[in-house]
Amino acid sequence: MEEIKEEILALKDEVINLRRDIHMHPELGFEERRTSSLVASYLKNLGLEVQSGIAKTGVVGLLRGKNEGKTILLRADMDALPIKEMNDVQYKSRNEGIMHACGHDGHTAMLLVAAKVLSRHKETLNGNAKFAFQPSEEHDPGGAIKMIEEGVLDSPHVDRAFGLHLGNFFNKGTIVLRDGIFMAESDSFIIKIFGKGGHGAYPHKSVDPVLIASQIVVSLQSIVSREIDPIDSVVVTVGKIASGDVFNVIPEVAYLEGTVRTINKLTAQSMSGRIERIAKNTARAFGGDADVNYSFGYPPLINNSDSAEYVKKIAKEAVGKENVIDAPISMGGEDMSYFLEKVPGAFFWLGSMNNEKGLDKPHHSAYFDFDEDVLPIGVEMHVRIVMGMLT
Ligand SMILES: [Zn+2]
Ligand SMILES: [Zn+2]
Repeated sequence: MEEIKEEILALKDEVINLRRDIHMHPELGFEERRTSSLVASYLKNLGLEVQSGIAKTGVVGLLRGKNEGKTILLRADMDALPIKEMNDVQYKSRNEGIMHACGHDGHTAMLLVAAKVLSRHKETLNGNAKFAFQPSEEHDPGGAIKMIEEGVLDSPHVDRAFGLHLGNFFNKGTIVLRDGIFMAESDSFIIKIFGKGGHGAYPHKSVDPVLIASQIVVSLQSIVSREIDPIDSVVVTVGKIASGDVFNVIPEVAYLEGTVRTINKLTAQSMSGRIERIAKNTARAFGGDADVNYSFGYPPLINNSDSAEYVKKIAKEAVGKENVIDAPISMGGEDMSYFLEKVPGAFFWLGSMNNEKGLDKPHHSAYFDFDEDVLPIGVEMHVRIVMGMLT
């Protein structure tokens, strides 16, 4: 395995150049046309069986080993975000208003180079590696569920699935994961509040939806503090408030939009009723009314226990025992969870923060960037995961 490390380090420039190329040309979810064709032609050059246009812009490459055996799926997401990049780097986004601010450029580059390394060693593999390049992770409904509906887990049938995410909240070169529940279910809601518009100077002739919206925002926080078992974990965040056009007019309606994160299925199912009860009754208490539109999003991400143990074992070989960290549960969401609902597998963080280089900005920041020195580690993890199971 030491030779593999050397072989991957010799490809460090290639993985960095791929990442920068993708970074310069970011594309939003289900619009990853350039990225998708770059991926497809790279995989074709390796001699893989390639299918494009899965879930619109997704690509799947299949590497058949020498002998029959299990099929391991490795997944990378390809989409960027509607953010204007503020970094002053030579590989800055060339697409105004769109940016790879989550590291998916790195995920795509690492998986491509892993495919290259594995394809060189296919004579040693008893089984297949399937490389799934997924569109649109950032927005529900994401690309994972669509790829599954379009058969990515079939022919050949996938036995295990693995994926990773760069993490700027963990030190460079660490591998961070846990058994069991790893990331939260992420759901969302829109509340429409009906008041009665009028003149700002005569509030007694109106029903003020802005005041009602404000009361609802405050009251929603009592769900977590007063209704949920303190040992359970829930987040309710109102991320958007919209109402009114003019400073001296009481508007007719107000809108609230927010996200709900849960780690317990029963709690998740109870949240729409709780929100609706508070929104409607608060609005009625002030003489207005409210409608709640609640949508269930990505399910919680759950690592299968022996797959997580396996990744930890592989990680100890790749980065050393001291750099393998047990993760806390994250209230973030990830649609890799759909793959892990269907087949056993594991997802993990690859720490990519480097304080000394100033590469410590959070994901989704306009200043996000990560330490590219960790890219070969991600390649090595992918390669070792497959080789460890198929050789
Ligand atoms: Zn993201
Ligand atoms: Zn992401």
